[in-house]
Amino acid sequence: MTNTQKKETEQPEEKMQFETDVFRLLDIVTNALYSNRDVFLRELISNSADACDRLRYEALKNPKLTENSKPFHIRLTPENTNTTLTIADNGIGMNREELIENLGTIARSGTAAILENLKNSGQDKDMSLIGQFGVGFYASFMVSTKVIVISSKAGDDTTWYWESDGQTGFTIREATPDESTLLADGHGTTIILDMKGDAIDYLLEDKITQIVLEYSDHVEIPIFLDDKHAAEKTNDSKDNEPEEEKPINAASALWTRPKDTITKDQYKEFYHHIGNVFDEPVLTSHWTAEGKIEYTALLFIPSLRPWDLYDPERKNALRLYVKRVFISDQLDTILYPWLRFVRGIVDSQDLPLNISREMLQTNPVVHKIRSGVTKKILNEIDKLSRDDEAGFAALWHQFGAVIKEGLYDAIEHREKIFKICRFFTTNDPEKPTSLQDYIERMPEGQDTIYYISGDNAKSLRSSPQIEGFVSRGIEVLLMTDTVDEFWLQQVKEFDGKKFQSVTKGNVNLDSFDKKDSTDDTTKKEEETPTNANIDTLLRVLQTELSDHISFARPSKRLTDSPVCLVADEGGVDMHMEQVLKIQQKYEPNQKPVLEINPKHKLIQKLADMAKEDQEQELLKDSAKLLMDQALIIQGAPLPDRGGFAKRMANFMEKGLLG
Ligand code: ADP
Repeated sequence: MTNTQKKETEQPEEKMQFETDVFRLLDIVTNALYSNRDVFLRELISNSADACDRLRYEALKNPKLTENSKPFHIRLTPENTNTTLTIADNGIGMNREELIENLGTIARSGTAAILENLKNSGQDKDMSLIGQFGVGFYASFMVSTKVIVISSKAGDDTTWYWESDGQTGFTIREATPDESTLLADGHGTTIILDMKGDAIDYLLEDKITQIVLEYSDHVEIPIFLDDKHAAEKTNDSKDNEPEEEKPINAASALWTRPKDTITKDQYKEFYHHIGNVFDEPVLTSHWTAEGKIEYTALLFIPSLRPWDLYDPERKNALRLYVKRVFISDQLDTILYPWLRFVRGIVDSQDLPLNISREMLQTNPVVHKIRSGVTKKILNEIDKLSRDDEAGFAALWHQFGAVIKEGLYDAIEHREKIFKICRFFTTNDPEKPTSLQDYIERMPEGQDTIYYISGDNAKSLRSSPQIEGFVSRGIEVLLMTDTVDEFWLQQVKEFDGKKFQSVTKGNVNLDSFDKKDSTDDTTKKEEETPTNANIDTLLRVLQTELSDHISFARPSKRLTDSPVCLVADEGGVDMHMEQVLKIQQKYEPNQKPVLEINPKHKLIQKLADMAKEDQEQELLKDSAKLLMDQALIIQGAPLPDRGGFAKRMANFMEKGLLG
C-alpha cells in the first residue's frame, strides 16, 4: 500500500495500491481463461457464511451486536439491467482497516509465488485451488470488471465503500447514506459484482441455484435468491399474505443429520467446503460419542498432502463448534500436531458457549475430545489398512512421516501408532511392512529389530553395513524419513524387541546361520582364509586416519565391501549425526569407527603391504582412499576433495597404464 495514513474525522476517498503479491495474483486470476469460474460464488458465499459464524460467536458475549438483526442469512441478487450480481450477508462486516488489510494484501507471504508456479507448470487450469491459499475473494475478478464492497463492522457506526477494477488498485471511502441502506441490518457486507460480458450467465437464476446446490448446499446459513417475480406472486395470492421465503440451500448442519441420509457426494462437498480443498478424501469418519463427554465429529483425511504441511505457521484445521455454534478453527489443542492434515468439525455438547478461545486451550473437556478423536482416527486408519490396501498405501505415503511424529509426541497413543506404521525393508524395498509382520518373519534367535537410516531406500539397500545381515537372511528395516531418527532416540523397543541400528556399535552375527550355502558371497567368504597381518594394517589405518576415526576394527557385518563406517556403541548414529549437522548445526565430538572386511582381497593385499613396509606411500594413500570411499557410500562430505581426486587419478593411472 502506498497510502495508509489515517485521518481522525471524515475521510475523503483514498486511492490505494494493492500489495505487489496481490497484483501478481490478480494477473493469474483474471487470465485464468480456462478455469472453472463457478468457484467465485462458492468463495464469496463461504466468506459470508464465515462472517455470520463469527458474529454469532461475538454476540454470545455481546448480545447487543445482533439485537435488532434478522436471522443470519446470505442474499444473492442478480440484476439483468445493470448486469450486476450482489452477494449480501448480515455477518460481522469489516471496518476500514480490515477492508484494506483483508482485500488489499495476501495474509501469507509466498502465496503468490506458489500460485505462479502452478500457473507455469500448467496446473492453473483449475482455479478451484484458489480457496486453499486463503485468497478466495480475488476469484471474483475472474467474472467481474469491477467489484464494490460495502461493509460495516457489527458494533461500529460507519459504513465503508471499497471499489476496485482488479487492475489499478482500489479506492476506499465512507459510504453514502444510500449505499449504507444496502446493509439490511446496518452491519455485514454487501458485494456488488459488475459482471464481465462473457460472464452474464451467472445472472441466470437456474445457473446460480445449480452452483449453490453443487458447492454450498451444506452451508448452514440460509442462502436466499432474490426472486424477481416475488412481487407479482404476492399480488396474485388470494389472501395477500407474503409467502415465507425459502432458502435455495438445505441450510442445516450436515453433521447433525443421520448418517444414512447423507450421500457420499454430500460428504465430499462438505469436505471441500471446510477444507478449502478439492480432492477425494481417503477417509471419512462421522460419529457421535456418548457417555461422559458428548460430541459429534465429522473428520476427513485428504488424499493429497496440503502444500503447507511442514509450514510452522500452519494451523490445525479442525473447526470446533459448541452446540452447533462455530467457535474456532485456530485451536491447537483439539488435534495433535502430528494429525494436522485431518480436516473436519467437532461439535461439543459439554463446553460452555461463552468460553473464551484462550480458556479453550487449557480446557479438560477439549483434551478428552482430543484423546477420543485421536483414538478414533488411528482405529479408522488401521481398519483402512485391512479393508483398502491401495487407499491405505496412499495415505501412508502422504502422511506416514507426519504420523510418526506422534511416536514421541503422544506416548499414550504409541501402541496404536505403531500398529499403522509401515517401513521399507531389505526383503522387499517396494512394499513396506508393519512391525508386527517383521517380527513374525524373524529367524530363530533374533531378538532385535535391525534398521538402517538414510535418505532413500534404494541407496540404503546397497549400504555395506547391511551386507552381513542380508547374507544371513536377517531383514533390516530401511528408515528413510528424517523423523525416524527422532522417534528412535526416544522409543527403545517394540513388543519387547529392541531397535538396533546396523550402523552403530559392534554386532556379532556368528550365531545366525548363513542364508544359503550356494550364495556366491557366502561361498567366497568361507573359502577365503583370514590374513594374519590384519592387526598391522589396523595399526596403520589408525595412525593414518587418526583425524577422522576413533579406531579401526575387523568387521562382522561386511561381506562384499572392503570397509564401512559405524558409530561407536555410545555414539550418535551415523545418519542421525548428518541430520543434526544440517538441522541444528551440531558438531559431533565423537569420531566414527572404521570397520574393515578381513576377508576382502583388497584388505588382504593391504595387510601384506603393511607387513612389508608400514611407511610406504602407496599404503598410506590407500588408507585415505578407503576412508574416502566409506564416506562417499555414507553420503557424507569428503574432508579433502582435492586430495581424493589426486589419489584417485594416481591409482587409475597405475591401473590403466600399468
Ligand atoms: P480467506 O477467506 O481464505 O481468508 P479471502 O481472500 O476469501 O481469504 O478473504 C480474505 C479475508 O477478508 C477473510 O479472511 C475475511 O477476514 C475478510 N472477508 C472476506 N469476505 C468477507 C465478508 N463477507 N464479511 C466479512 N469479512 C470478509
